[in-house]
Amino acid sequence: MRLATTTTAAFIVCCSAALLVLPTAAQTHTFKYKETNNAYIYEAKPGDFFQFFLGDPQFHFPCVPENTDCKKQCTNSGTVCESRYANKVQVQSIGALTQQLTARGFRPRSIIMNGDLTDFGQDFELSEFKSQWFMDSQLGGMKIYPGLGNHDIQNTVDHKNCKQNECADRMLSFFIDNLERHLKIRPDYQVYQDAAGKWYYGSFAYSWNECSPTNPSQCVHFVQLNNYPSYSRTIEAYPKGRWTVMSALNWLQRDLAQNQQHPVVVNFHRFDTEFSDADRASFRSIISNKSNRVLGVFFAHNHSGYGVRHEEYWCINGRYVPLLYSGSVPGNNYLLVRFTGDYRTISIVESHHVTGSGYTNVYPLQMKTGSC
Ligand SMILES: [Zn+2]
Repeated sequence: MRLATTTTAAFIVCCSAALLVLPTAAQTHTFKYKETNNAYIYEAKPGDFFQFFLGDPQFHFPCVPENTDCKKQCTNSGTVCESRYANKVQVQSIGALTQQLTARGFRPRSIIMNGDLTDFGQDFELSEFKSQWFMDSQLGGMKIYPGLGNHDIQNTVDHKNCKQNECADRMLSFFIDNLERHLKIRPDYQVYQDAAGKWYYGSFAYSWNECSPTNPSQCVHFVQLNNYPSYSRTIEAYPKGRWTVMSALNWLQRDLAQNQQHPVVVNFHRFDTEFSDADRASFRSIISNKSNRVLGVFFAHNHSGYGVRHEEYWCINGRYVPLLYSGSVPGNNYLLVRFTGDYRTISIVESHHVTGSGYTNVYPLQMKTGSC
């Protein structure tokens, strides 16, 4: 079947690191382009649109060792300091880059957050996540499309620090409430009520389209599968409710069958050994449907990773499909992707912190293109 549009993607990978004390609005966070070819931002064409990708805000988890600025800022202060620092810096950098892009007429459409919003689904962790990412004026109210990771749900199940599975219950409740209330998206689940209470049952996957503000037919279909595509688990959280998280593979097959008019980007949290070879093969088969065009598979979980994982591409229907780390907050990395009508490149934005000033280095990530 023919695709209705030719939208492809140009990607930037981004990192940031800046100040423990955020600059005031009067101060600026600057970007230093590592290559003279700044095509990525400055040559954006009318009709192009941008998306941020990142993973692992993970309140409260320490910065990666190579995030030396974070480590220096929090010497002897510990994990909470590092987590707050890394998140503040990430918000600051994304906010500043958004301002730059907006000034050129390319306000990014939204932020895709690929899981591990918290370290353990605790109330104080979720509260801090919400206030840092949802209430920070630097992001100008930009929409955030979250996924849940192993730290939000999987790791907390039947753990002594989460009485009656209150942690997973809290995160799943937040997840569906946020999607329905703020993004007007109903993820894939049903609710049953019986004498024992409510039973939430489904894959909790969801999808939506982002389109160019100037060319409404130039869109990308985004899919969020949460932890990993085949993760399944029943979580008893009585008396609040019971959650059955099902594999998202069947849902994905249906969703892609119903959304063939636009190229597709697939998101989830962890692409590691928990995602078995057999399930990977099923997943790959589903996204290889000739009626769909998948542009990339994005995930997170590895805090030191950003960009193409192990230089790995899947050859799907004659095109290279990159497997990409979205970047992480503890590593102060993120991706900025430009979706274009006719080509694909990826650029890396990496930030280096200097005490007293904040700046982010931006450089393009070389991507395999063409046929395979
Ligand atoms: Zn994780």
